[in-house]
Amino acid sequence: MARDSALNDLLITNGMVVTADKKVRADIHVLGEKIAKIAPALSRKLPANPARRVIDAKGCFVFPGGIDAHTHMELPLKETSSSDTFESGTLAALHGGTTTILDFANQVRGGTLKGALDEWHAKARGKAACDYGFHVSVTDFNERTRREIRTCMDQGVTSFKTFTAYKGSLMIDDRQMIEVMKEVRDAGGIVLTHAENGDLIDHLIERFRAEGHYEPRYHALSRPPLAEAEAVSRIIDLANFANCPLYIVHLSSGAGLKRALGARPGRAPVFLETCIQYLLLNESAYSKPGFEGAKYVLSPPLRGRGDQKALWAGLASDAVSVVATDHCPFMMAQRELGRKDFSRIPNGIPGVEHRMELLYSEGVAKGRISLEKFVELTSSRAAKIFGLYPRKGAFRPGADADIVIFDPKVRHVISSRTHHMKCDYSVYEGHRLQGKCRTIILRGQVAVDNGIARVGRGFGRFLSREKFRRDFRT
Ligand SMILES: [Zn+2]
Repeated sequence: MARDSALNDLLITNGMVVTADKKVRADIHVLGEKIAKIAPALSRKLPANPARRVIDAKGCFVFPGGIDAHTHMELPLKETSSSDTFESGTLAALHGGTTTILDFANQVRGGTLKGALDEWHAKARGKAACDYGFHVSVTDFNERTRREIRTCMDQGVTSFKTFTAYKGSLMIDDRQMIEVMKEVRDAGGIVLTHAENGDLIDHLIERFRAEGHYEPRYHALSRPPLAEAEAVSRIIDLANFANCPLYIVHLSSGAGLKRALGARPGRAPVFLETCIQYLLLNESAYSKPGFEGAKYVLSPPLRGRGDQKALWAGLASDAVSVVATDHCPFMMAQRELGRKDFSRIPNGIPGVEHRMELLYSEGVAKGRISLEKFVELTSSRAAKIFGLYPRKGAFRPGADADIVIFDPKVRHVISSRTHHMKCDYSVYEGHRLQGKCRTIILRGQVAVDNGIARVGRGFGRFLSREKFRRDFRT
């Protein structure tokens, strides 16, 4: 025991421990960075250690640390970059109970996947406060890119993003898509797809501009649910053809969900992600006066109430596997780029800090989803799909001690004046929350306690991820 007592020794007592499959009143013992033991009344059974820190979680839920599978820190666009750095964005994530993010390293046309990863490693290394991994976006598929897919896998980057929209910058055609899928399948990875029909959207953008429509709401009108539904259906067909595991990012519409469920029964494992904003916000935001609607410009856009209902039902029925954020904030001054033309408003909204509390408050507290489902949607499923399980997303001996102590009784209100994201507005301004992430532990260290950060710049580590496992099929 002498050796153990020199380690970080932490005991979380009296909490209701919740995992994806059960909830049980138990204590969690942490040694060093790992979970050592989970059992009822451990406090009375462990050998004494004067150095042990005890955290009383009475009246609280104890959740595995959140995993946000979809963020964009410091994302360079044509005219600007998303406003959260890896430092500010990951600290905000920790405040909201997210201990791991998966961010997207984007290949540039003519560039390599290695170039993209080098760039993102340089942004995050020594700066991120929470743990992080990378997906790599394949935007220029050629023989060199093909060979690089295996190199990425060897370096722990096992998920490859593709786009069916943004022709001329990010989009690849169906022929290239099939080639990427076959290569990724053989290498043991998974393909992620932004599924919207880019040509249909480009056609509508041109039409609205030609007709003199430049207001923010035309952003939404130029990206109708049909554009998503068509691409979702097609991309799942292609994945089944190539027998490649597929994860559709930010599914936003009831029409898209319906098509996905129609196309999904095939040989490829297919997972659907939605984002917290599609569950809680809707297209009425685009009718706000003046330039207000610009705050909500993201792609796909916010949809109708019927779509929100369909997505909530999709969570409850297991059709949708993951709730992420697509966190990609811009300051209002950056949004001004599109004051005279909706198509120039930088796309993306802030969210990484409030995903867990919003989903608890609107989902669990309102009786729409169970506690176990909450853990699945915010942590365990993403860990399984992206090669992090059971190191992350699980409570078991040997797993990283990433723990959220959540007080369901605390009420608070979201405001840009108090949030930690580098963004001068919140799309949830004034939203009342039931429940708060009280203490957040990352690899055994208290990272945030009662709103005070205890770790900072550089505490986060790069996560080298495993291959996709077909036995995790949902
Ligand atoms: Zn995104």
